[in-house]
Amino acid sequence: MENQKYSPFNIKAATPGKLKEFLKDKPFRAYQILKWVWQKDAKDFSCMTDISKSLRERLSEEAFIPTHRLIRKVASSDGAIKFLFELLDGEKIESVFIPEGDRRTVCVSTQAGCPLRCAFCRTGLMGFKRNLEWWEIVEQVRAVREEVKERITNVVFMGMGEPFLNYDQVLNALRMLNNVNYGLGIGARKLTVSTAGIIPGILKFAEVKEQFKLAISLNATTDEVRSYLMPINKTYPLEPLFRALRHYCARKRKRITFEYVLIKGVNDTDEDAKRLGRIARSIPSKINLIPYNPCDELPFEEPDDRDVQRFYELLYPFNVTVTIRWSKGREIKAACGQLLAES
Ligand code: SAH
Repeated sequence: MENQKYSPFNIKAATPGKLKEFLKDKPFRAYQILKWVWQKDAKDFSCMTDISKSLRERLSEEAFIPTHRLIRKVASSDGAIKFLFELLDGEKIESVFIPEGDRRTVCVSTQAGCPLRCAFCRTGLMGFKRNLEWWEIVEQVRAVREEVKERITNVVFMGMGEPFLNYDQVLNALRMLNNVNYGLGIGARKLTVSTAGIIPGILKFAEVKEQFKLAISLNATTDEVRSYLMPINKTYPLEPLFRALRHYCARKRKRITFEYVLIKGVNDTDEDAKRLGRIARSIPSKINLIPYNPCDELPFEEPDDRDVQRFYELLYPFNVTVTIRWSKGREIKAACGQLLAES
């Protein structure tokens, strides 16, 4: 790339403010360019026909429009498609497209790798590489949209990484995904962040004005089992976590979702179901049961369908909303906890 020697300006990493500053032009111009980049998939400046030729020439010399390099794309028979992307510095991340009914969901990564090392999750095996910048998160959605040629209706922050260990970049990404004027225009209620329970992140998220959704990966009902499955529980144990969640629900007047990965013989007893019911009744929430997706590298097993059904029925008396997520993308290892950036 010829313009590398001028240390070019990354248009996608630019907030409207930064872009205005760079352009030394009317604010309106910045919005036009952002629209080209985020809404119309522009790859170069020459296509930006509503911008003067001289500005386009200056931009071509001083700025660039990066895209995630698509390394691999694997489709599953249920419609899910897993994308392996390479970032500018060579790190690799995965994103998943999940069509279901009228929904077209993209599952995005927030970090390259993950530092949490949950015992059952495949992403932890690759270790932690680095945080993603906000535009690298948004770019996953844009790139997937361009590939599948469909309007994206939902985004879930449930790919690689822990969103609340990269809080500021995740919030900026949410806002760009949400922005209708120059961003991707996805409604706040269609944007879900999933956390392993980072309390400071939950408390900050409670102060955010937009109605983004929050999901908590609970996965156990006692500190003993949860600390074994999710070492982060030693830092943020259940009682303080529940207090933070009650505060969040009160502050935002919203329910949260508890995700509960059912692992055979580990967290699927009748007592677990009852404790989960009591927890969910004490916090405005619904429950999403996820039968574990096994992989070769980890010793855990998926429960029998019968046991999933039994666990589900034990939750009836608690009057909580429960759904069972029969994971999509299992055969392509794109399902929850199976993202590893192999290539
Ligand atoms: N770190 C965040 C975002 C990753 S989300 C979080 O923990 O929420 C990943 C979701 O997939 C979590 O709910 C996790 O519990 C679940 N998960 C991880 N490994 C899984 C597996 N092998 N099978 C099913 N779900 C899994």
